Amino acid sequence: MSANENTLPFIPFTRPHFNQETIDAVAEVLRSGWVTSGPKLAEFETTLSEYFGGRPVRCFANGTATMKIALQLAGIGLGDEVITTPISWVATSNVILGVGATPVFVDIDPVTRNIDLDKVAAAITPKTRAIMPVYLAGLPVNMDQLYSLAKQHQLRVIEDAAQAFGSQWKGQKIGSFGDLVSFSFQANKNLSTVEGGCLVLNNIEEAKLAEKLRLQGLTRQGMDGMDVDILGGKDNLTDVNAVIGLHQLKQLPTFQTRRTALARQYFDVIRSEMKSAGLESLKLELPVENFTDSNWHMFQVVLPLDQLNVDRAQIMTDLKDLGIGTGVHYPTITGFTLYQNLGYKTESTPIAQRIGRSILTLPLFPGMTDEDINRIASALAGILKKHLKN
Ligand SMILES: *Cc1c(COP(=O)(O)O)cnc(C)c1O
Repeated sequence: MSANENTLPFIPFTRPHFNQETIDAVAEVLRSGWVTSGPKLAEFETTLSEYFGGRPVRCFANGTATMKIALQLAGIGLGDEVITTPISWVATSNVILGVGATPVFVDIDPVTRNIDLDKVAAAITPKTRAIMPVYLAGLPVNMDQLYSLAKQHQLRVIEDAAQAFGSQWKGQKIGSFGDLVSFSFQANKNLSTVEGGCLVLNNIEEAKLAEKLRLQGLTRQGMDGMDVDILGGKDNLTDVNAVIGLHQLKQLPTFQTRRTALARQYFDVIRSEMKSAGLESLKLELPVENFTDSNWHMFQVVLPLDQLNVDRAQIMTDLKDLGIGTGVHYPTITGFTLYQNLGYKTESTPIAQRIGRSILTLPLFPGMTDEDINRIASALAGILKKHLKN
């Protein structure tokens, strides 16, 4: 590696993009005198509903609150079991615990890195009420199989589509069909409101209940008095966030085209760099090469740790030294102290255990250049070569 590679600008693993129009629109909301949930939120919800083919949509303060409310809408609580994946952001299973239910972790498919639907049936008990799949990096599961399983066993589906805004299944947008579909608009997501989330619902009754749940369970407010008939929280999205979302939605097609192009380039240059470094026998696992369904929220590789003499942390440090930021999405949830204390074992999902230790997120965001991708691929090949077991 030449010395000047160290002085190249740092590439973070992701970076949000807000254009001048968005910044101006935020300023306008701030000056308007109405900053919390109001007309911009209503407009954002209507626009999202149109985006999802007319299904009702309600927004919340973040993706975690969105999933919590989805579980409440499905009536899931104490004594219920919800089947999910151990490779996700911990929010997924935390919200299940949060409503008093029990997460049941099913192992993942090593290729898609999503929950292995072939293994779900064996985990169903009389207490199972729902399946909560996660579309890691924006790649959906087999939606036909998911909904036929749910139908066959009479289960609700709460889709943790936090990473899958803009993803598709057989030409249909994720969220435009199905049961309860939850998205996150957190800063790193493909569409961001800084923090926020939305839930696509089945009908107006569910939407009305969601509105109550996000605001203290309030039924009436105004001159005719006030009443609360169920326990709700404070999970509303503000107009400041909503107006950002409206502007991000306009830019989404451009963002998506760029993400897809960058992902394609990753496959090409990683393969050619590995080849020219003589690393053809190294089992570096690339993502599923899917350019129709995935929104390319992330580009993740699985490191061949058994062929290397270092762990993932060292690879990340070496990349960082070359000005390349990476991430881990995610360590196995069942390895966290809270979950260990609850009796979960990482060994019960061996594929997730392996992938949780060796998955690595490379930088991918619309503002990246082709040159950035080349630089990352070349750095990765060089580092892997340096750490080969002999
Ligand atoms: C981002 C994310 C969430 C939670 O979203 P927040 O908006 O951060 O609360 C949940 N699940 C997955 C898979 C995510 O990536």
